[in-house]
Amino acid sequence: MNVAQLDPIPETQELPVFSETAIKTARVIVVANQKGGVGKTTTAVNLAACLGQENRKSLLIDMDPQGNATSGSGIEKHSIERTVFDALIEQEPLRELMLPGISENVFVVPSNQDLVGAEVHLTRDPNGPHRLKKAVQRFLKRSSDFDYVIIDCPPSLGMLTINSLIAGESVLIPVQAEYYALEGMADLLRSVSIIRRQHNPELVLEGFLITMYDSRLSLSRQVEIELRKAYGAHVFNSVVSRSVRLSEAPSHGLPIICYDAKSKGALAYQSLAQELIRHETESPRTWPFGHTL
Ligand code: ADP
Ligand code: MG
Repeated sequence: MNVAQLDPIPETQELPVFSETAIKTARVIVVANQKGGVGKTTTAVNLAACLGQENRKSLLIDMDPQGNATSGSGIEKHSIERTVFDALIEQEPLRELMLPGISENVFVVPSNQDLVGAEVHLTRDPNGPHRLKKAVQRFLKRSSDFDYVIIDCPPSLGMLTINSLIAGESVLIPVQAEYYALEGMADLLRSVSIIRRQHNPELVLEGFLITMYDSRLSLSRQVEIELRKAYGAHVFNSVVSRSVRLSEAPSHGLPIICYDAKSKGALAYQSLAQELIRHETESPRTWPFGHTL
């Protein structure tokens, strides 16, 4: 199933109701782009770590069966028995599945190959698209000390990404500063618009993040110019450069602020975390694309 095949929820169908106050305690940010290799996982792991460093308690949820956010957080994905699968399918509380991350402020709900099987279950269940939302709402109701939930999506617009976008309050879109960077963007924005219209009207755009920027390449500069021209203030000021240190960090199971605290990558993700923290108090984010996509 993909977004285009998603049926609107019938009005008569009962959805779980949780109190609004409980939902508003944390910000739920979905890192999404159906393209692979654009920096979603790198962004999700490092953003959670940098928010933690800023004293914001963060839960990172790995929604990709590849489990890269799990291993990149130092968790051995093949040896874990319980994953986000158990939250989606067995309705186990996220609180019981989360593992300590790199600091006292960061926790991770892990994933591994088991999650591949969830897609089929979720597609068969009329409430399937809402399973993660229900789990996150239940978590936040009992864990009001958390400030952020960061969700790392797989590289597709399938049921796991749909669940993530329905659970989210905002979507953060990493864009690789390369040729074809904007290819597929219209599909992604259209899909988010469909999900907003049918399931989650409050979902807003957190921003576009330029990743793997290489200042020596005119192509990188060109992509940045085009993106800022097209999306203006919705593009983060922080730009993540291409950096070997950033690509090495996951193999050590560490976020960049622990692997090489002074590197450009560490500074970029710290700067991104600070921009997000400013969003907490600045004018509220919007969805700037209307319903016309
Ligand atoms: P996605 O989750 O979108 O598939 P990843 O975050 O896994 O993308 O990144 C893809 C690959 O590129 C990984 O090997 C990662 O370590 C590497 N990578 C990500 N960001 C950077 C960067 N800024 N500089 C260099 N390598 C990067
Ligand atoms: Mg990934």
